[in-house]
Amino acid sequence: MVNDLKRTDVELQSGTKTFLESGPKKLLIGGRWEDAADGKTFGTHNPANGNLLAEIAQAGPADVDQAVKSARQAFDGPWGQMTGAERARMMWKLADLIDQHADELAELETLDNGKPIRVSRRGDLPYTSLHFRYYAGWADKLEGATLPVTMPNQFVYTLREPVGVVGLIVPWNFPLLFCAWKLAPALACGNTALLKPAEETPLTALRLGELIVEAGFPDGVVNVLTGPGEPTGAAITAHPDVDKVAFTGSTEVGRKILQAAAGSNLKKVSLELGGKSPNVIFADSDLSRSIRGATWAAFSTAGQECVAGSRLFVEQSIYEEVLEGISEQAAKVRMGDGFTPKIHLGPIISREQLDRIEGYLTRGQGDGVELVTGGSRIGGELADGNFLAPTVFSYQDDNLEINREEIFGPVVGVTSFDSWEEVVARANDSRYGLAAGIWTEDLGKAHRFAHALRAGTVWINGYGMFDPAAPFGGYKESGFGREMGKEALDLYTQVKTVWVNTQ
Ligand code: NAD
Repeated sequence: MVNDLKRTDVELQSGTKTFLESGPKKLLIGGRWEDAADGKTFGTHNPANGNLLAEIAQAGPADVDQAVKSARQAFDGPWGQMTGAERARMMWKLADLIDQHADELAELETLDNGKPIRVSRRGDLPYTSLHFRYYAGWADKLEGATLPVTMPNQFVYTLREPVGVVGLIVPWNFPLLFCAWKLAPALACGNTALLKPAEETPLTALRLGELIVEAGFPDGVVNVLTGPGEPTGAAITAHPDVDKVAFTGSTEVGRKILQAAAGSNLKKVSLELGGKSPNVIFADSDLSRSIRGATWAAFSTAGQECVAGSRLFVEQSIYEEVLEGISEQAAKVRMGDGFTPKIHLGPIISREQLDRIEGYLTRGQGDGVELVTGGSRIGGELADGNFLAPTVFSYQDDNLEINREEIFGPVVGVTSFDSWEEVVARANDSRYGLAAGIWTEDLGKAHRFAHALRAGTVWINGYGMFDPAAPFGGYKESGFGREMGKEALDLYTQVKTVWVNTQ
């Protein structure tokens, strides 16, 4: 295992090199960078070539406990005393620092996660600072209400208060952006936080921790705890003095988090979980646009998106044309190391995840689905990385494992439908309900579809757009709670009702 910095093919920013070369990464606890109490570390690797990027401290229960104490002190102390306007000023400063270091953060993201550098620079980074600015705008607008109760001589009003110490647990597909999705509203509302990035991609959260210190947030307001689900994430969710956990990840781990919350202090929980999103193309759509859109709905981020449009329903009369079109587009996708110019997609995050995807494909073929293109690992120069060719298969049976489980890779199943009633029923026939797409020139049909779908987000003639102002979250087993928009303020505040007897 060689250190990835010994590569000669990429000229990295000096800040990126300094960060990676400055020795093993530590935990941010109470404003100080600390080794894990038990001295444990783990390695983070570049998924494009398997090279080691850095050694990282692994937080155990003692570190989590220390971080919770620091977060509580900050909550009861300086942070809790600040006005919303003061919190907003710090968040603006942090957003400016993120922008100043955007190139370096983008490089760290691409090294650790594998996504193309163009995507990190133009997507993940600007949206990260945008989130801090959007929620900075809310920090001094958290209003209560006065309530016209039925009893005489009672003046009743509500206050919107922070929840307290919050645990924020994020996955590896948008490592920095998802930190912002959670941290920005949590800070705007006056909470203090334990931030746990995924063990596969800890680097940008650690660099964000440095910028948080530089921005002048009081010690303990944000603690960064790196490590795997067990022991790090589990210690956060089980801790009796953590008031809330906000989680993005798999439905399976979401269940564990609910159990841990129930078994400890009944902490509040919000969950952004998996998906198996339907994407529906009607014959009256603009076909060149819908085929291109459906291709990227399925393969963006190498399919490692919770909203991936992985079940593609095509109206019978255009089925062959769309299947051919999307297969042609899939065959043209260029994959490679995220720093290679003009690539579309990077690798799968880990060998384990690649094996998992291939398992679904093997069993799916055994169940009778027909592979149209892709389905195999990419060898040659990319053999050391975790690359799978974009894969299209056709099917009719919705009940096969491959059509029900989330695959989380560049794999799309294409099937035909005959009627509106049929496609709505089949699209809704899933335990998930995260997102859906529809492609049609008939606006009435598009809106009827949006209303009929049991999904948290519906895109019409587009796919995969997000914005800090637009709430996002799941129906059914895709989770509960809405991130982004003003709805996210509900996740990080609680309402206090005050009764005043005026007589
Ligand atoms: P994962 O559930 O394995 O891990 C997510 C995070 O949870 C990681 O930080 C991990 O360390 C932590 N974790 C694991 N076990 C834990 C435990 N017992 N207690 C506490 N924390 C624990 O998910 P993943 O494989 O990293 O990500 C892929 C999954 O995330 C997919 O299912 C995908 O759909 C989902 N996802 C959902 C959204 C959304 O917004 N709905 C967004 C992205 C990804």
